Amino acid sequence: MTAIDSPKHKKAKALKSTSRRPAKELCSECGLCDTYYIHYVKEACAFINQQIAELEAETHGRSRNLENQDDWYFGVHQDMMAARKKQPIPGAQWTGIVSTIAIEMLDRGMVEGVVCVQNTKEDRFQPMPIIARTPEEILAAKVNKPTLSPNLSVLEQIEQSGMKRLLVIGVGCQIQALRAVEKQLGLEKLYVLGTPCVDNVTRAGLQKFLDTTSKSPETVVYYEFMQDFRVHFKHEDGSIETVPFFGLNTKELKDVFAPSCMTCFDYVNSLADLVVGYMGAPFGWQWIVVRNDTGQEMLELVKDQIETQPVNSSGDRRNAVQQSIPAYDKGVTLPMWAAKLMGVVIQKIGPKGLEYARFSIDSHFTRNYLYVKRNYPEKLADHVPEYAQKIVNQYKLPPS
Ligand code: FAD
Repeated sequence: MTAIDSPKHKKAKALKSTSRRPAKELCSECGLCDTYYIHYVKEACAFINQQIAELEAETHGRSRNLENQDDWYFGVHQDMMAARKKQPIPGAQWTGIVSTIAIEMLDRGMVEGVVCVQNTKEDRFQPMPIIARTPEEILAAKVNKPTLSPNLSVLEQIEQSGMKRLLVIGVGCQIQALRAVEKQLGLEKLYVLGTPCVDNVTRAGLQKFLDTTSKSPETVVYYEFMQDFRVHFKHEDGSIETVPFFGLNTKELKDVFAPSCMTCFDYVNSLADLVVGYMGAPFGWQWIVVRNDTGQEMLELVKDQIETQPVNSSGDRRNAVQQSIPAYDKGVTLPMWAAKLMGVVIQKIGPKGLEYARFSIDSHFTRNYLYVKRNYPEKLADHVPEYAQKIVNQYKLPPS
């Protein structure tokens, strides 16, 4: 390619790691600005130009149907199920469905590389995005790095490598920016395997969360906010520590989450072809959302390695969400005995399956809506997608 027909973005320069990002404090460090694709940041950044509906239409052939509540909550989809691997991958976040799909795609030659995130040698929670070209490299990326991760920082390497078929694994903000620049990547086929994501933190924020919440922060290898309304910490020796959500020190933790995550309304990764999470499934199972035919093709690859069951839903989340809104706002922390008791009661009679997912989405969207309204009132109209506004409208919010 000559300099004349070289795309404009190649003349752009990645930002230095110390430079202030275009989205300022709302930057989620997705990695786009670490590449010459920064050229497109004003259109592509999820926090500068929210365009989920437009990108859904381009990617899935339609945007959410706003008459259909399932679409408000879970996005465009053609199938949903609970699933788990018959033989889980040891050390994966859940049963390792994400890693298994990626390995199958590479093994069968459907893709030449997989964008995923390993950790650095020195720190198990410090993200290190890579383009994996072997199953071993994919396996080494298993388990969540519960920190903002610049997955898109490897995008320049893709163009330079001449790769034509690629799988990208990522969370919502990374995938929004990726979809916005997809046509510039020179690929013949892009597959996107997403996970839901919420309440992410910087590496320093993670340390504060661990120090405030776990009895042994330095030995935590994994944690998850589980469907039993407890945070489960797994430690190096294999032991599990659980802390009820209602016992978290909300006052201390209020500013621990990244501002980007406090303004995010893409919990369920609207633009991935296939989403693998857990929150719409029974305890111990993963939750799969197939958004389009490409996602179905990806899921087919592992059908013989997983067991599945239909999604179900029970309970009523609305009272619990409504009550949690002022409690969170005032930073109320229950004494541990009361938190444990509340956890036991809500686990018995509380929302389950898809209703649990709705509980989590409602709680986060109402909190985030208030945050945007108070801190970025000028962004409110454009930044909050219509489906999120409908979700928030179901609740009475405290005055700003
Ligand atoms: P594994 O086979 O262990 O693979 C995990 C994959 O995640 C790896 O390929 C890795 O590249 C990728 N990854 C790890 N960290 C990051 C990161 N920071 N950014 C981008 N990619 C990453 N699911 C829910 O249902 N509800 C939630 O609230 C929720 N919150 C999440 C928050 C975060 C920060 C993350 C990363 C995921 C979250 N998930 C959530 C998804 C869920 O925790 C599991 O990741 C998912 O079910 C896949 O499990 P697995 O065993 O198949 O993954």
